[in-house]
Amino acid sequence: MANLYIHYPFCKQACHYCNFHFSTGAKGRDQMMELIEEELQMRASELKSPLESIYFGGGSPSLISTERITSFISKVTNQFDTVEGMEITLEVNPDDVDENYLSRLKLAGINRLSLGIQSFSEKDLRLMHRAHDRKEAENALKAVTKQFENFSLDLIYGMPDSSIGDWEESLLLALSYDPPHISAYALTVEEKTVLHRLVNKDKVTLLPEETVKEQYDLLVALLEQKKYINYEFSSFGKPNFFSVNNQNYWNGKGYLGLGPSAHSFDGQAKRSWNISNNHLYASGVQSGKLDREIEQLNTKDRYNEYIMTALRKQEGVSLVYVKKAFGKTHAAYLEEQVSRHLAVRNLFWDGDHLKIVREAKFLTDGIAADLFLI
Ligand code: SF4
Repeated sequence: MANLYIHYPFCKQACHYCNFHFSTGAKGRDQMMELIEEELQMRASELKSPLESIYFGGGSPSLISTERITSFISKVTNQFDTVEGMEITLEVNPDDVDENYLSRLKLAGINRLSLGIQSFSEKDLRLMHRAHDRKEAENALKAVTKQFENFSLDLIYGMPDSSIGDWEESLLLALSYDPPHISAYALTVEEKTVLHRLVNKDKVTLLPEETVKEQYDLLVALLEQKKYINYEFSSFGKPNFFSVNNQNYWNGKGYLGLGPSAHSFDGQAKRSWNISNNHLYASGVQSGKLDREIEQLNTKDRYNEYIMTALRKQEGVSLVYVKKAFGKTHAAYLEEQVSRHLAVRNLFWDGDHLKIVREAKFLTDGIAADLFLI
């Protein structure tokens, strides 16, 4: 596992669409990074050198003190070999950003930020129940562009009541800050969220799928025009600014996930995830017996995962790789399954690689599911 992921499970307030594991309470906040450091020591043998990336996610890792971040990074870099210029990303909420904080993050060794803007529309931000408003989003961007060359901003499209014009305005405003990377996700309604309740009670009406597709198509067209490369379904980067952490994940490389709910993968067939409960996670670390589940992937699982991730990437699905990794029967199955999507021109062969046409990109997950082994 040459990548390290840290899940910091605390947030200021609960966003209405979010189903990640986090707590808004104060209990255990100060202790969490100590526990995560202890978990790292317990699982140090699972981490392969040289380390290629560290990613602080959550939750809201911009609530961790910069002293803690500094000490965590220096412990990791003292103990493990790392590649030169290793990518170290921290997810940051706009309301946590000021110039002083950003300077301290740089000194700590953070060299990439992922800024959770989500939208510039006050109406969207209120509906999402984000902790920041448009002004804070813009101020954060101004401060980040002064100090960080490598940063990404997250946006959400398909917001209820939003028109194609609203979405274009948000995108153009984001582009005016010339970010080297943008990740854009469609709003999804997850169970057990406030948004789910609001939709079920007809207090919020979702956009028709066709309008969401129009917004995605605009995103792809506009960002391509501005020389971004859509290197994965939701990810757009200028050359040399693709996320190392995310690419390693999509390329099936191993990662060690620390903290409550964090997932790990050994780069072959073993996946595991920590318990999504801060208190039980703490007891597990303190007793030396981590509370986590382990899953051994079989060939079918690995084939399906490969198809899903590869089709979402610009490189597409490699038939040679499918033959090599899964055998001739799987390759023949793939060739048979793709025929109807080739016929309607959703997919095309580029040499040995199966790719999705631009007009069908929005349908990627559904098309991938048609190629799965059931
Ligand atoms: S800040 Fe991020 S992790 Fe926290 S509730 Fe909002 S979306 Fe979820």
